[in-house]
Amino acid sequence: MNPNMRKTIISVVIPVYNEQANLPEMYSRLRMVLDDMGRPYEIIFVDDGSRDKSRELIRGFVSTTPAVRGLFLSRNFGHQPAIAAGIDHAQGDCVILMDCDLQDPPELIPSLVSAWEQGNQVVFAVRKKRKESLPKRAAYRLFYRLLQRLANIKIPLDSGDFSLIDRQVADLLRKMPERNRFIRGLRSWVGFQQIGIEYERAERYAGEAKYTLTKLLRLAFDGFVSFSYVPLRIAFWFGCFSFALSFAIGVWAAYERLTYGNAPQGWTSLMVVMTFLGGTQLMLAGIVGEYIARIYDEVKQRPYYIVGQEIGRK
Ligand code: UDP
Ligand code: MG
Repeated sequence: MNPNMRKTIISVVIPVYNEQANLPEMYSRLRMVLDDMGRPYEIIFVDDGSRDKSRELIRGFVSTTPAVRGLFLSRNFGHQPAIAAGIDHAQGDCVILMDCDLQDPPELIPSLVSAWEQGNQVVFAVRKKRKESLPKRAAYRLFYRLLQRLANIKIPLDSGDFSLIDRQVADLLRKMPERNRFIRGLRSWVGFQQIGIEYERAERYAGEAKYTLTKLLRLAFDGFVSFSYVPLRIAFWFGCFSFALSFAIGVWAAYERLTYGNAPQGWTSLMVVMTFLGGTQLMLAGIVGEYIARIYDEVKQRPYYIVGQEIGRK
């Protein structure tokens, strides 16, 4: 590396999955903002196994600008692993995480950076308004409120992955071995001085959301399971409740038998109780299974992303 080169101060990490329609606009707006700031920077595009022209576009950016780097993952690993790959390879004193669809406006970067320079190690962007469909907004609302209630750490409401993290925090995230990564949770978990900055979340500039409903549910589940034991504890409280209930019914049945000589009868009530208990037991076993699956994931120690190719100057 050229010894006269100034050290990178700002790294911008952008996960990309089939974003050919957004990349050129995203790149030019980002470049404009970063060039205006006049600080050394690097842009890292993490291509998460795109099958469209995204990789060619990234190659184009890399070939014309030394400040751009590309990490091409060997297949689609998902948004969170792609961000993790970017954080692992970033060299800046601070790392900015943002999506490729311009829902996270690059124009907010100067505010993020100035909050960082005022001594905040984590600066996360908080969505003031969402321009998305009503059911999606309602689902997000519910998710963030529930997570806030159930999680054993305080995850700020309505803050996504769009954020700036200090080098110190980036290094901590790198050292965390978790496979099922819920970055906005981990980012909160590390502590330090954190601050939220409000912004208006735009609509996707072009293309379809790459998060399918199942992927979103998966992410939501990751959030709950990684940061809360409440689902596990439900089983315990439910068990206590049915134990108390069965005890009460037993006492009542004995009383009926001894004083009036009649045994309580009824096929219907029995069936209801049986199916209800059977159902809840299976459901709770499923929840326990979910935690076990995650333990299994951790034990296997497989990497959570694989970089197939790395382009651009380090
Ligand atoms: N993304 C990714 N891998 C995936 C899905 C999405 O790298 O498997 C990227 C995508 O290209 C975008 C960001 O993650 O830059 C957020 O995706 P999307 O806009 O679909 O999510 P939403 O904004 O709906 O939460
Ligand atoms: Mg988006």
